[in-house]
Order: sequence, then C-alpha cells, then structure tokens
Amino acid sequence: MDRILRGVIKYNKTVKKDLVEQFKRIRDNPNPIAVMFTCMDSRMLPTRFTQSAVGDMFVVRNAGNLVPDALNYGESSEVSVTTEPAALELAVKRGGIKHVIVCGHADCKAMNLLHDLHLCPKEFDACSPMDNWVRNNGYKSIQRLNERLHSGSKSIPFHSLVSPSQSFEALIDPFDKLHIHDKLSQINVLQQMINITSHEFLKEYLESGKLFIHGMWFDIYKGDDYLFSKDKKQFVNIEESTITELMSELERRCGKSIMDSFVKVEEN
Ligand SMILES: [Zn+2]
Repeated sequence: MDRILRGVIKYNKTVKKDLVEQFKRIRDNPNPIAVMFTCMDSRMLPTRFTQSAVGDMFVVRNAGNLVPDALNYGESSEVSVTTEPAALELAVKRGGIKHVIVCGHADCKAMNLLHDLHLCPKEFDACSPMDNWVRNNGYKSIQRLNERLHSGSKSIPFHSLVSPSQSFEALIDPFDKLHIHDKLSQINVLQQMINITSHEFLKEYLESGKLFIHGMWFDIYKGDDYLFSKDKKQFVNIEESTITELMSELERRCGKSIMDSFVKVEEN
C-alpha cells in the first residue's frame, strides 16, 4: 500500500491536472469507440500499449480474458449473469459501441493453469474458483489447441453457431515458434471472439454490420501488439510495415464506421 499511496501523491503533482481537463472536455459527450476484454495480469496496460485516451475505451478485465459462451448455459443462457455479457450489453446495446476487442497476452498465468489442468486433471480442485473459472470457460480453447496440435500447421476452423457470418479459420503459430502456453493463449483469444457471438442479443448487430469483433495479442516480453487478420488467418504484428494492409482489411470488413471511429479519436 505504501507504493500505491506514494503513487497517488506523485499523480496529484503530475498528471492529475491534465486528466481533470480531459474529463471536463468529454463530460457532456463521452464517445467511447471500443470495449476491450483483456486479462487482469498486472503486466497488461491496455491504455498504454494502445495509447488510448480518457473516454476512448471500456475495459473489462478478468483472469484469462474469458467471455463465457452463452451456449454453455443451455436454455437460460442470457439470464446466467456474469460480468462479461452484461458489459457487452452495456457497451453495445446501450452505448452504441461498434468494436469489441479481445486481447490476450504471452505467459498468461490463467492460460498456463488451464493447460496444466488439462494435462493433469487430478490437480483440479473443485473448491477453487480459479480452477472452475478457467476450466468451465476455457475447455473449448483446449479443444481447439488439440485440433491445432493434430492438424500441424494447417488452419483450424472457428465456427459460430449463432452468427455463422462470424466464423473464420486460423493458422496458429504456423512456424511453431511459440511455447504451447502461448499457442493456447492465441487460440483462446479467437475462441472468445466466437463466444461473444454466442450471445443472441448481439446477433442483429453482428449480422447487420453494426458490430465488429477483433482479436489482439500482446507479447509482454517484446512489447509487440498483434492483430488477428481474417484475410491472412493469423496474428500480424502491428507496425509501420503492416499497418496499411491491416487498415485496408479493417476498412473493407467494417466499412465507413471504423473510419468514423478513428476520426473521432483524432478530434479528441
Ligand atoms: Zn493473463
């Protein structure tokens, strides 16, 4: 707590004034452009590695950036209350958000645990909320990982039952450079993109092109941000040499809305 309180004193002396100005500027017209689901890991600083400003983005964090699959819960899907679907409703239905981002990362402790429990089921502790959280919401990611391991470097399908238009294929780590935990972490991002489509209340937004789901992955050791390209079927490092191609794919997929979003950021 000492470090936290001293941090507040430093904040009071440095960034507070500028931040209050930014709060005032957007007070009557907050205009967030995206909702990001990311991991609670203390090394993940999404507003820094996207350089987003006050009011740009809703951020929902949990262990493993998991979004429960509505189809897991059968008939009562939309009344099984968890934070993540409620956040989606708040952002998309009530907030008019057009972009949902799932952002995972390298060396994710939740993904490591998910993989370890898969390898050693005896380690599963039925009384552990964390074990239950990752196993209940991560088992499909494990299934996809097994498909990836069996198919080698071939692409594997990510199929949406509720919104088939959102289905895609992915080449996961085609050159086998990543540790298996990081393969799982990238697969998990893509599976959460599909889980988001399982929520019926989003179907009309997805099918009518009013909502777009994106996958990102952050390499915490290199500091690199990746975006999943549906065209290339893989994660692409976001840098000067790739940004033009990534942007043109997004423009084609999302139409004018994404450009509107970026213009709004510029204006802010
Ligand atoms: Zn994590």
